[in-house]
Amino acid sequence: LAVHLVSFFFSKLQEDPTKKVDRFLHAMRLHDDQLTDISMRFLAEIKKGLSTESHAAATVKMLPTHVRSTPDGTEKGQFIALDLGGSKFKVLQVKVREDKGLRKGGVEMEEKIYPIPNELQDGRGAELFDHVSESLKDFLQEKNISLEEKHPLAFTFSFPCEQLSLDKGLLLRWSKNYKARGLQGKNVVQVLREAIDRTGGMDIEVLAMVNDTVATMMTCGFDDKYCNVGLIIGTGTNACYMEQMRHVDLVEGDEGRMCVNTEWGAFGDDGALNDFITEFDRDVDAASMNPGKQIFEKMVSGMYLGELVRLVVLKMAKRGLLFDGFVSDALRTKGKITTAHVAAMEEYRNGLKNTRDILVQLDLAPSPDDCVAVQHVSTIVSFRSSNLVAAGLAAILTRIKQNRNLRALRITVGVDGTVYKTHPQYPKRLHKVVRRLLPESQVRFALSDSGSSKGAALVTAVAQRLASQRRK
Ligand code: BGC
Ligand code: MG
Repeated sequence: LAVHLVSFFFSKLQEDPTKKVDRFLHAMRLHDDQLTDISMRFLAEIKKGLSTESHAAATVKMLPTHVRSTPDGTEKGQFIALDLGGSKFKVLQVKVREDKGLRKGGVEMEEKIYPIPNELQDGRGAELFDHVSESLKDFLQEKNISLEEKHPLAFTFSFPCEQLSLDKGLLLRWSKNYKARGLQGKNVVQVLREAIDRTGGMDIEVLAMVNDTVATMMTCGFDDKYCNVGLIIGTGTNACYMEQMRHVDLVEGDEGRMCVNTEWGAFGDDGALNDFITEFDRDVDAASMNPGKQIFEKMVSGMYLGELVRLVVLKMAKRGLLFDGFVSDALRTKGKITTAHVAAMEEYRNGLKNTRDILVQLDLAPSPDDCVAVQHVSTIVSFRSSNLVAAGLAAILTRIKQNRNLRALRITVGVDGTVYKTHPQYPKRLHKVVRRLLPESQVRFALSDSGSSKGAALVTAVAQRLASQRRK
């Protein structure tokens, strides 16, 4: 018996602490055949959302954007842009090929971030938009932009909207950390115009409203004509792509193409992903502002990754698998581990040290093995996110390939969002998995920095170019 005990303890001591995490989280470690399965399910959602018969019942809404062309690089103009719904609210001035001798790309911008107080995110919608328009006026004054002249404005609004035209979009529902009252079903452009009138003293023409994915695709498309997909992995997640008009049933006409905002965050809201959902996903969903909604988003995006890690670590500690079974109040508290922590824990050189610091801040006393284990939890959670995004993207790229009747596709994906930009390993992992799922295609990823802000101006510039071409 003694010999057995000794060898038992010896093997315990020897075990790599990542092994117990692998066992504990096996349901989050998705293999390529599972990813292909998810990809096929998403391809089915694409069809369901696009077609007239099934659209009403579809969870993935596949919303037409009325953006009919990516930039050709000849667009010009000067615009004011607003970007609401990402991690920060911004007001910008965007100049598209206005100054001679501009560097390649030819888009210049100046921006200012305006914090949005929490109570406005879930207060009255009109007050939220008053804040938006007052920030706009402050920006014009601060940048010495004439209040007398008329300024074209483009609005990036990163929530699902049913768009009836470029400047008319009805808010279907809020997501992420917004739930201001009285806006659901309203034309958000009109709400903005009214707020601008209330603020007064500005001459603003709101020309277009776009989703952040669309803005990102357009920004990237200004430099790269192969960019036909926009992707956001930030506070929320979503993707758009150029679809053939003949497949966009909701909009009249069969000629040419139109950008479709997939709203893939809602994938799974009807149970389509139930066999991949873990108890941690269920807990995150139950404690969220919108239970039952945005199921895919809650497995993927920055608003939830830290919380997933916290719930896993908490459960492991309660089971005695970490910290000798000790649990602190901080570890029990929602929001104490953020996506910034997740990124820090996976930093190349300092990851383990960061993990230790973060756990100590949570009033825990981690052993070296605990730190290795918690870092591995973080890796599994963030890797699952990039795997799921890869599966969704593979479906979109397969769809485009089928549309164009190609065997191999050459395409660029424009990407923006805090997770993609700040997590040290995320982009590399995502690219690798997408290429593994679609070996025959040539997929380029282009970081579209500030794409979600700049791109609204480009949508407007493209619309102006198309209109002037029609006049000629
Ligand atoms: C919204 C999308 C948006 C995405 C990324 C989601 O929560 O529903 O419209 O594109 O977040 O910001
Ligand atoms: Mg059509």
